[in-house]
Amino acid sequence: MATYGYRCPWDGDFELRFAIGTATASSPCPTCGCDARRVFSPPSLARTPPALAAAIDASWRSAETPEVVSSVPARSREPGRT
Ligand SMILES: [Zn+2]
Repeated sequence: MATYGYRCPWDGDFELRFAIGTATASSPCPTCGCDARRVFSPPSLARTPPALAAAIDASWRSAETPEVVSSVPARSREPGRT
């Protein structure tokens, strides 16, 4: 089973579950019954928090091409350290 998105022009988006490959191009809206067209979106990708996505991207970039620095990074200001 997979979840497919549909968009009613009056009631907005809703999701239906079908076996993979059996989703129809349109489906009746559960609210008003009108013909709702299927919409395509990348599943689950939008749920990644932006800060986490940025950190993952930075990690991948760093693995391929580490950032070049021209000086020693400044000392961190952690409490309890001298
Ligand atoms: Zn509707």
